[in-house]
Amino acid sequence: MKVVTTFEQTRELGTDVGLVPTMGFFHEGHLSLMQRAVADSETTLVTLFVNPLQFNDPSDLDRYPTDHDRDLALADDVGVDVVFIPSVQEMYPVEPTTTVSPGSLADHFEGPCRPGHLDGVAIAVAKLFAGTQPDRAYFGRKDAQQLAVVTRLALDLSLPVEVVGCPLVREEDGLALSSRNVFLGDDREDALGISQGLFAAADLVEAGERDAASVCTAVIEAAGLEFEYVAIADAMTMEPLDAVGPDTVLVVAARVGTVRLIDNVSFWALEDRLIADRGTTLNGPSMLTKEVHDVSGD
Ligand code: AMP
Repeated sequence: MKVVTTFEQTRELGTDVGLVPTMGFFHEGHLSLMQRAVADSETTLVTLFVNPLQFNDPSDLDRYPTDHDRDLALADDVGVDVVFIPSVQEMYPVEPTTTVSPGSLADHFEGPCRPGHLDGVAIAVAKLFAGTQPDRAYFGRKDAQQLAVVTRLALDLSLPVEVVGCPLVREEDGLALSSRNVFLGDDREDALGISQGLFAAADLVEAGERDAASVCTAVIEAAGLEFEYVAIADAMTMEPLDAVGPDTVLVVAARVGTVRLIDNVSFWALEDRLIADRGTTLNGPSMLTKEVHDVSGD
């Protein structure tokens, strides 16, 4: 596996490149995107860049977990060919005056809750697409609104890249994997309310409920948490909807202790029924849980 630091080096990789953009501190969610890219592509390129432009909260950026040696070993194990670790200078040699705005896709949810976040994602991803010229790019459904933004970015700018959405990966107890989970500590138990709320609502939808307000109430009641938002949205446009239907997503965000978490369940049509996509669940503790225990000596 090669490690490169410039866009120019990434363009010397050859044809049929699958790109996996990440901010690092890998877990099984990241690794599942890489495995899919490796299966599909001649060359798998993983980018590792903590993008300052997508952090609206400076303290979140300051404490974002980083461990390149750990990440490189994990990427090598799954068969990644190249890891691109650009400096901030390589990504942003000058402060961009050009903006890449997701427009109405950022009107709700993460848009108003994290001002500037989705614009920061959009410009970084646009730069990665332009600078590395991949054939396909892999994104997790964990970040449902980000996936919608990136899909639309490629379409609107006629970028010659196929955006591939991949399943959300959960801990065996349901908690959606996130690099930020390492900060949960004793709040982890409370954080489980998020997936419990989503699963209760998913059961309700599979039993026939279609009213968005009733579905959202079910999330709140089962979770026992305060949410920043709980809503049914169109999975492509991210517009809030009054009713659950095919290609919709139940999106939530909550702050648990000092950690802000997002999660979702999406709904697909199967004949005249709706099927809830809860993601895939690990069979044992994730590498993040194990590392937290190793550190704390539990
Ligand atoms: P991040 O490093 O958090 O920016 O995430 C990099 C990529 O991994 C994004 O496409 C995320 O959607 C994806 N990802 C993060 N967590 C998960 C998860 N639990 N399941 C699936 N994909 C994930």
